[in-house]
Amino acid sequence: MSEQSKVLVVDDEESVVITIKAILQHDGYDVATTTSGVQARAMVREVEYDLVLTDLRLEDGDGLDVLKAVRENHPETITIMLTGYASLESAIQALRAGAYDYLVKPSEVEELRSTVARGIERRRLGQELRKRVAELERANREIADLNSSLQRRIDDATAELKERYEQLKELDRMKSQFLSIASHELKTPITAMSGFLQVALRRVRRLSEGPDAGAAAEGLRGITEQLEVVYRQTTKLARLVDELLDVSRIQTGRIEFRYGDVDIAELADEVATRMQLTTTTHRISVTRDSESVVTADRDHLEQVLNNLLTNAIKYSPSGGAITIDVRPEPDGGVLVSVTDEGIGIPEQELEAIFGLFYRSPDRAARDAAGMGLGLYISKEIVVRHGGRIWAERGAAKGSRLNVSIPRVPVGATKPDVAQPSGARR
Ligand code: ADP
Repeated sequence: MSEQSKVLVVDDEESVVITIKAILQHDGYDVATTTSGVQARAMVREVEYDLVLTDLRLEDGDGLDVLKAVRENHPETITIMLTGYASLESAIQALRAGAYDYLVKPSEVEELRSTVARGIERRRLGQELRKRVAELERANREIADLNSSLQRRIDDATAELKERYEQLKELDRMKSQFLSIASHELKTPITAMSGFLQVALRRVRRLSEGPDAGAAAEGLRGITEQLEVVYRQTTKLARLVDELLDVSRIQTGRIEFRYGDVDIAELADEVATRMQLTTTTHRISVTRDSESVVTADRDHLEQVLNNLLTNAIKYSPSGGAITIDVRPEPDGGVLVSVTDEGIGIPEQELEAIFGLFYRSPDRAARDAAGMGLGLYISKEIVVRHGGRIWAERGAAKGSRLNVSIPRVPVGATKPDVAQPSGARR
């Protein structure tokens, strides 16, 4: 051992103390001594000895008290009791009080040396063991820490995966919804077109074979009507495809804007006049204030107004008044409100209707054809102008869709104001 082991010898007989000290010093221990029990107790409080050798009977006290003081202050210190006579009783008493061993006085030099050596070795092993246990505990703690950080990372990764999974599920849901809506909506015009084309072809064939001129004129009228239906369905189909293309452009960031001066009131008049031609049960009117010119993409704004008016007509199946109100906003922008007297929008759907492929679960709304794209596209256009679009419930019935467009597009890149707003497609 590199460090000298510290031994305290306590005995009230000076000669005993001196003898033992000499023997133990010779064996390489650092030996302290005292003949007083009181002082011995003070010393073990101060210093941690490796081994304390104490007489059982001291003049000013009891060796068991020294032993107790050792246990209280340094429980790992080895204690050996010296007894004046071979009393089994006192030896047992000492061992019971926690002594490691006992020696009977006067003891053999060899016995003293080997007992002390054993005690010191015992202490060394004890310390070693404690060190090992501490190391193991530290290693255990490190493993536990690693484990918990691993667990945390696994939890994080799991949460992330779950989130992705939810996103994918949502995408999947939207895809299937899109497929069902699209196939249904695209199929109707195609079925109508192919049906009428077949009938028209059969009639043309019969006319080219038959002799009757009057019947030919009658047949041609029928064919013309059917071709008109086909034409209307083609237009509808083209519009559906256009909407799908718009969505794809929006989603891939390839939608382009050409900015110029647009008088929104004038545009509203134009759209209203055109839409009035498509219905006899609705009365479309425009209320307008002064001039309402903003810098915007005319074609895209027209698309928004078209969508709002188409919806106003579509979702008021029993007809009624449709009003487009155009008024300047205090900050130079323009507010357009389209009000109808139709089926209305349930409170809880007022925001959802602007979602991609959103269609109301409401029976009345389902009766009208649609893919749930119009308002999504409209919102995208309005937002790209730095504006806002929102829906409200009508006072008594129906709904009101509002669009607020700023005077100049906010946050839009390179507005080509100089360019006249022209055809886009
Ligand atoms: P589509 O009309 O093709 O379904 P939109 O995006 O234009 O798609 O509209 C989404 C939904 O919002 C409609 O399915 C309908 O439920 C509701 N909606 C839109 N406009 C109106 C309106 N004027 N009145 C009542 N419901 C409306």
